Amino acid sequence: MEKTPTPTHCPYCALQCGMNITPLPQGGVEVTERADFPVNRGALCGKGRTAAEVLSPAVRLTTPLVREGGRLVEADWPEALDRIAGRLAATRERHGPDSLGVFGGGGLTNEKAYALGKFARVVLGTSQIDYNGRFCMSSAAAAGTKAFGLDRGLPFPLEDVPRTGCVILVGSNLAETMPPSLRFFTELRENGGTLIVVDPRRTRTAEQADLHLAPRPGTDLALALGLLHLVVAEGRTDEAYIRERTTGWEEARAAAMAHWPEYVERITGVPVPRLREAVRMFCEPEAAMVLTARGPEQQSKGTDTVGAWINLCLATGRAGRPLSGYGCLTGQGNGQGGREHGQKADQLPGYRKLDDPAARRHVAGVWGVDPDSLPGPGRSAYELLDALGTDVRALLLMGSNPVVSAPRAAHVEERLRSLDFLAVADVVLSETAELADVVLPVTQWAEETGTTTSLEGRVLLRRRAVAPPPGVHSDLYVLHELAGRLGVEKGFPTDPEEVFGELRRASAGGPADYSGITYRRLAEENGVFWPCPEEPAGTSGAEGRDAASGAVSQGPAASDASAAVRHPGTPRLFLDRFATPDGRARFVAVAHRATAEEPDAEYPLLLTTGRVVSQYQSGAQTRRVAELNAAAPGPFVELHPRLAARLGAAEGDPLAVVSRRGRAVAPARITDTIRPDTVFMPFHWPGEGRANTLTNPALDPTSRMPEFKSCAVRVERVEAV
Ligand code: SF4
Repeated sequence: MEKTPTPTHCPYCALQCGMNITPLPQGGVEVTERADFPVNRGALCGKGRTAAEVLSPAVRLTTPLVREGGRLVEADWPEALDRIAGRLAATRERHGPDSLGVFGGGGLTNEKAYALGKFARVVLGTSQIDYNGRFCMSSAAAAGTKAFGLDRGLPFPLEDVPRTGCVILVGSNLAETMPPSLRFFTELRENGGTLIVVDPRRTRTAEQADLHLAPRPGTDLALALGLLHLVVAEGRTDEAYIRERTTGWEEARAAAMAHWPEYVERITGVPVPRLREAVRMFCEPEAAMVLTARGPEQQSKGTDTVGAWINLCLATGRAGRPLSGYGCLTGQGNGQGGREHGQKADQLPGYRKLDDPAARRHVAGVWGVDPDSLPGPGRSAYELLDALGTDVRALLLMGSNPVVSAPRAAHVEERLRSLDFLAVADVVLSETAELADVVLPVTQWAEETGTTTSLEGRVLLRRRAVAPPPGVHSDLYVLHELAGRLGVEKGFPTDPEEVFGELRRASAGGPADYSGITYRRLAEENGVFWPCPEEPAGTSGAEGRDAASGAVSQGPAASDASAAVRHPGTPRLFLDRFATPDGRARFVAVAHRATAEEPDAEYPLLLTTGRVVSQYQSGAQTRRVAELNAAAPGPFVELHPRLAARLGAAEGDPLAVVSRRGRAVAPARITDTIRPDTVFMPFHWPGEGRANTLTNPALDPTSRMPEFKSCAVRVERVEAV
């Protein structure tokens, strides 16, 4: 009998492309395109198309593992869970609750992220929880919150991009990271709009641009200031908008005016005429956008850097207006939802602040605990990893692979090895799971139902299409079982819809309000944009109202008897007011400063890191897919022909890249698409070519984001043995 396809979403990046899954008679599933989801309209990249391969028992974990005599051996679930609960309890007894760490992931569903945060704070009583999303877009989140009072990656749908006049894309190679999104930018240009790409490399995305600006890594802040200087000098500011909708302009203006174009050219290497051209292209159309990604964000001054780009939008009246604004292209599949529901060190569900007494009271009420029993904010992701084996003695880790993805990775690996106890729940035996004392095999996207929130702030329903292999359970089951063993019998259901119901209540009234969203609505409406508060029964005024701005929203129409009480969701934020107490956006006065590690005689070059189209994040899943592995089998060192000539290196020659933290070896890839003073390595692989062995954990003071995008290195030829 023909099986009906199950509509769902991709397990990988934050675009969350729609796809159908159909179980095959011979076992396994088929992934096919889904044309009804407006973000990808049927397109999938190679990662999404091949996602079913990771469901195969041949490449994934199907039984718990425990360490015996130094080796991981198979165990049953009760034994593995008993061992975790016993070691967590003993560690807490001996060293106190903050000796227990919890590390989550931006790939976990909203339900799992919510349950994990609650587990850490209610069951373990620890403040030591953070997640790998800290390494993703936390600088943009911090800058957005400062400026607008609220962080939602994109405050408008991607569908607005083709209708604006100009987009400045800063540090995003979306042609490789999320290829189906490229069509929005192609359509922008077809409609007469222009695309400016800021990237030290002439990437496949930059090749599509009308103007490519290639600053030195780590100088995007100066570049944005230089553009703002020219905006002011050329009289292109929107004075009425600045007066009516912003505060703090004079300080920000003065800071920008200290950055003369010639000075900015010296810092960035971008010629003044190109700066002028960018300003003209950005300011002439009626509407324009700035979108940032990891390039400006993964810096030790990432928050200020993003703030400088937001200032540019505000000075020109291009935020909170139709088809205009600033947005962040979040990377991980649930990078957005993952930061909203309580697995971040400083946050409670609904994007509430952990140090806000009212927020603590509200969430504690939903959880049925005393607000004073909730711990305060903990360490950020890198600081937590750095504390392993010292203050933090035992770690529960879900859905993350910091051995490959963390900065200064050799040190992080050594810290993980120094733990008294490490438990990992994952789909595959990642490089981090290999170090664990207990490994739990958990379900993945097609085997479980749950929600994610895309980079647009659109909450989506992923549906279960196939049963997991025998012996595999969900992360919710893991938390339920551990909570019970640690004396908390209630409050950790295994049914995702039940968890979502509680999440809705916990988020109600908060910045990221999900209370009006149900699984039924998500299925019927192809997703709902937050905030979406639950309207009081009997009201009908919700339709068409934008909760954050009071402006008319274009949310989907409700379609059943409860239509009168459905809030439509909020595709577009800030149209009438920003989410600050006075409704005005805030300029932040920022100034250029150097990266944490500038080149010198010993380390004369800059390393920048990034992604390739056929691998995803730490590669734990995609390195197990034959087609993807064949397309991108290993790391490489991208360098300019002039630098290669200086080194006497030919294409494919093994090169050692050396920083103050270590050495990575990979073959040379010689190309004139990179600056001669910069080398590039993708970070998806472990072993001797691990790029993150080299990267600098210098942290942004606000977001605690490490400086992945820039560190000083030297490059050496490796002589064949
Ligand atoms: Fe999946 Fe992202 Fe590729 Fe879409 S672009 S198919 S969401 S990995």
